[in-house]
Amino acid sequence: MTTNLAAGAPPVARPVHVPMDQFAVRDGELVVGGMKLTTLAARVGHTPFFAYDRSLLRARVAELRAALPTAVKLHYAMKANPMPALVAFMAGLVDGIDVASAGELKVALDAGADPAEVSLAGPGKRDPELRQAVAAGVLVNVESMRELPVLATAAREIGLVARVALRVNPDFELKGSGMKMGGGPKQFGVDVEVVPELLAWIAREGHGVLSFEGFHLFSGSQNLKAESICEAQRKSYELALRLATDAQLPVRFLNLGGGFGIPYFPGDVRLDLAPIGANLAALVERARREMPKAHLVIELGRYFVGEAGVYVTRIVDRKVSRGQVFLVADGGMHHHLAASGNFGQVVRKNYPVAIGNRMGAAATEPASLVGPLCTPLDLLADRMALPVADVGDLAVVFQSGAYGASSSPRDFLGHPDCVEVLV
Ligand SMILES: *Cc1c(COP(=O)(O)O)cnc(C)c1O
Repeated sequence: MTTNLAAGAPPVARPVHVPMDQFAVRDGELVVGGMKLTTLAARVGHTPFFAYDRSLLRARVAELRAALPTAVKLHYAMKANPMPALVAFMAGLVDGIDVASAGELKVALDAGADPAEVSLAGPGKRDPELRQAVAAGVLVNVESMRELPVLATAAREIGLVARVALRVNPDFELKGSGMKMGGGPKQFGVDVEVVPELLAWIAREGHGVLSFEGFHLFSGSQNLKAESICEAQRKSYELALRLATDAQLPVRFLNLGGGFGIPYFPGDVRLDLAPIGANLAALVERARREMPKAHLVIELGRYFVGEAGVYVTRIVDRKVSRGQVFLVADGGMHHHLAASGNFGQVVRKNYPVAIGNRMGAAATEPASLVGPLCTPLDLLADRMALPVADVGDLAVVFQSGAYGASSSPRDFLGHPDCVEVLV
């Protein structure tokens, strides 16, 4: 074995972005929604814009269906991208929609989602939101003791039964996750130690007004390690089984969470679905014996939509400052906070970026793609090797279908808003 410390060892290869080969290239231009990028930009009418490609959304759902057991239901967590047209499109492809507010609930219902397959989660549900959820007949993932009497009262007043599941804050963490949302002290869910208390309350006070359906566990987000995801799914399943057995309650709904990540940064690789499929198949098999009434659900946001979207911004100036090239674009962090580095990430990394009308050209020039805002944080690519680009060219930020427009400070600095198109 050689090590890098050995004399004469070759330098370690710099990590690179995985190829963004989900999009075709025609005549040197990126193809989005079947259109060459310059044609799409002309159709949209102005830049910047986000474009989400229907064929890629459809392909992603098909890929998941092929890799995972058919008994596992796929829910779209719409906070990843709440554009109404996209939610309506997704509602036709997946088995259910997970919403995190009454506002999202409205979009999901408008989109034609079946209320039987809609669930509402979130740590601070206001009384009117809980009431709306009961009236809509959607499942509420209860995250606090406070919610139970509110739901019971709403159900009594409206004359319907409130459908409830308990969101459990487990006693383990999802390893290797970009964002942990379970394990340890959390504002999400009910600590597993307290769950029996809530189950007892439902049994005692819930007669005729609360219908207990099962459990929801969500340990974290943006995970690229299949083995960590499998481990979290196994532990979640076992925890739910233990809680259900102790309470002697039949479980009809078991949401094992999601957390499937997509490659954003140099060195990231695409998640391998095969081991996750095998793991879920084993859990489906166990559930058939141990929780025969339960249907298993996984909920995914970014994995469904992230790779299907691009952010497109036109270069309005090209400046050279003390030898460094700056491509100044008409869009930036105000539309795409995540790509800029979220108001100053500790170690900022570049999303994959290309010049979408020069896809054939070699990336020979280190350049920084910046936006029009008066802050150095408005940076979409930091000294990245790009084809030589100039005013009028279309810069593309890939992996932009999730957590883009809706999670960015669009009023910051008073520039025009972006448009979103589904193509
Ligand atoms: C945010 C969230 C999701 C979606 O996370 P992704 O990383 O986009 O897949 C799913 N479930 C819950 C409860 C969430 O809060």
